[in-house]
Amino acid sequence: MRVSVILPAAGLGTRMAAGHAAQTAPKQFLELAGTPILIRTLRAFAEVPEISELIVAVRATEMERLTAHIFEHGFAERVRVVEGGDSRQESVFNALKTLDCVEDDIVLVHDAVRPLIEPAVILRVIEAVEKHNAAIVGLPALDTIKQVERTADGAIITATIPREYIVQAQTPQGFRYGLLHHAFAEAEADGFVGTDEASLVERAGTQVFVVPGSASNLKITQPGDLELAEFYMTHRGNPH
Ligand code: C5P
Repeated sequence: MRVSVILPAAGLGTRMAAGHAAQTAPKQFLELAGTPILIRTLRAFAEVPEISELIVAVRATEMERLTAHIFEHGFAERVRVVEGGDSRQESVFNALKTLDCVEDDIVLVHDAVRPLIEPAVILRVIEAVEKHNAAIVGLPALDTIKQVERTADGAIITATIPREYIVQAQTPQGFRYGLLHHAFAEAEADGFVGTDEASLVERAGTQVFVVPGSASNLKITQPGDLELAEFYMTHRGNPH
């Protein structure tokens, strides 16, 4: 059984720009303690022997830069670069279409900008997919969660959702290849755009299981997140 990993990395990182005025690279190429974020993410997956190949989806203008990074860091054997799309969903689907898999093979999708994913958690997702066909990493909610209605004057609370019913979706999100491909094709045909892969699989009628995540698996999105990631790395005793 093959396990392939898709890393969508074709975002523009516009929310990051405010804190890095001189930013010339999308956030996935920013350095975290001296190493590009994307390379750190690749390293975490490269540590899991069960994984057969890694596919990174980037903008056409970044393909050269990424290929150079991949060679420099010794990943050329296991990593393939494909062109991303205008949405995260399109980037993942472009990569998915290049896979040479059978129905029961496993595909994991992981945000390129979550470099602190632990290999042990990746393994737990693979095991959960072997058992349940679909599983994602989810972080139990600590805050009280409110449902709101947006009005011209601001948001108004319409309900309080008990937090035991809530997890925040993280990645990796893992699925059987056949199931994921079918869900993507169906979403495309229906014009549905989701913010994660699980939402596509859920609407296709499949149960998705949750593997507990941790706050350190943060998505580097806004100014301050790089510093927070460095804090977690130091805390783990692994600043490099
Ligand atoms: O924008 P967001 O924070 O949801 O991005 C999550 C991941 O999806 C990032 O790794 C980003 O590079 C990727 N992405 C992509 N193609 C897009 C938009 C986002 O691969 N068009």
